[in-house]
Amino acid sequence: MDKVDLLSLTAVEMEEFVISLGEAKFRAKQVYEWVVKGNDIPEMTNLSVAFREKLAQNAYVSRVTTVVHQKSKDGTEKFLFAFPDGQNSECVLMRYHHGNSACISTQIGCRMGCAFCASTRGGLVRDLTPGEMLAEIYGIMRESGERVSSIVLMGTGEPLDNMENVEKFIQLITAEKGLNLGARHISLSTCGLCPKIDMLADKKLQITLSVSLHAPNNEKRNQIMPVNKAYPVEELMKSCRRYFDVTGRRISFEYAMIRGFNDTRADAIELAGILRNMHAHVNLIPLNYVKESHFMPSTREDVDAFCEELGKRNINVTVRRRLGSDIDAACGQLRANQNKG
Ligand code: SAH
Repeated sequence: MDKVDLLSLTAVEMEEFVISLGEAKFRAKQVYEWVVKGNDIPEMTNLSVAFREKLAQNAYVSRVTTVVHQKSKDGTEKFLFAFPDGQNSECVLMRYHHGNSACISTQIGCRMGCAFCASTRGGLVRDLTPGEMLAEIYGIMRESGERVSSIVLMGTGEPLDNMENVEKFIQLITAEKGLNLGARHISLSTCGLCPKIDMLADKKLQITLSVSLHAPNNEKRNQIMPVNKAYPVEELMKSCRRYFDVTGRRISFEYAMIRGFNDTRADAIELAGILRNMHAHVNLIPLNYVKESHFMPSTREDVDAFCEELGKRNINVTVRRRLGSDIDAACGQLRANQNKG
């Protein structure tokens, strides 16, 4: 029988598991409390040695070890973590005045193939389990000594391509007796898998949905995001409008500004057109330069003009602050560099 990851269990599942080991139900509460505090089995010192041994024979607690830990002058910290099978994942801790935000990965690698993204270069290696995603959060808290008050699922991987595990992770991290994070403090970013967006809407979670749009029409989006061939812009907008109608949650659209590709005033006008009447928020991201691609970031002037054009059309827009630019390593580059070396 495979060992059970204690970090992947809800309080109720923990009870079932402990009972299946022939132990009293109240022991589950003790184990759960240790696990929620980020402890491993040997550290559960109020349990008998015999019980700890039994636990260790049948279970484990997902953990990451730290391969790289970088700190930026602005307080941003970047981590490359390793799982016991040797696979690496990238995470970031960002400090804002309203609290700390953790950006975590949901898969090892990615199969979405976006042309500007370093995370997808080697394809998908495997999904992360709910316990492994929690282990990333515990790794960030342990290494930084900080608490985390919000989470963005914007590291490596497509969360909706690993939907069951991501949903369980959300269930675990929002559990009252768990880390008890409010669903409104969780953002899930997707490249636009429409059927999964529809399914997510029906779950009516209070999380924030971010959609990586990056282009105002099919002609351009097809060139940089293969997913657009399966789910073109019109279909994506339909799913987004439905998501808003069903959940009442405003969608945030990510738009990476690529020089000479999607950053003219005409592009902004077209973008405003497709987002009309949907209470959208647009987050403009100056493209992170990725070595292997020929894409360059837009100039500051072009970003400002684009922003102005959206503003004129009453589209709510912000330009993402470039946190951690001195430690740079754009999305997925830490892992890519590690795999090369
Ligand atoms: N697969 C999900 C989440 C992971 S990517 C998604 O596509 O949304 C997180 C965000 O970073 C996405 O908006 C993605 O498009 C963006 N991104 C990837 N590479 C980038 C780069 N080089 N510069 C700027 N943003 C990038």
